[in-house]
Amino acid sequence: MNIKKSDGIYNVESMSKKGTFYTVDAIKKTCSCPGFLFYARRKGDVCKHVKAVLEYIANLEYNTKDVTKKNAYSIKNKKNSDGKKTKKEKEITEEDILNYIRKNNEVDAIELIEKYNEELINRMIKQGTIIEIKGKIKIV
Ligand SMILES: [Zn+2]
Repeated sequence: MNIKKSDGIYNVESMSKKGTFYTVDAIKKTCSCPGFLFYARRKGDVCKHVKAVLEYIANLEYNTKDVTKKNAYSIKNKKNSDGKKTKKEKEITEEDILNYIRKNNEVDAIELIEKYNEELINRMIKQGTIIEIKGKIKIV
């Protein structure tokens, strides 16, 4: 979808009427299209233009702010695309994970899963090598 931004207001091109732009306020989550004014708003919903803008903003933040997440994302994608584990994941051992937790005392579970191999971490939790308490991973 064609999206242009000016002063926090986004102009989104209509899918059915090329050259027609609707005004989307990403903060108020409103749109000037008939679909929003006559339909979505009454149901407390948003139209596809608001959704497109919110997605667009989320992607921008994702791509610029969080480099770590982006890397984890590309590794996951690689894994999904060929259905096999990446070389990096194969090389990870339980000792690597333990060393990392030792160094930090406790580690955020999400961070650890993104950094290392989720299957391996789950196995270590089941084995009782490490423990998860309120989203933090610690060594037992
Ligand atoms: Zn709309």
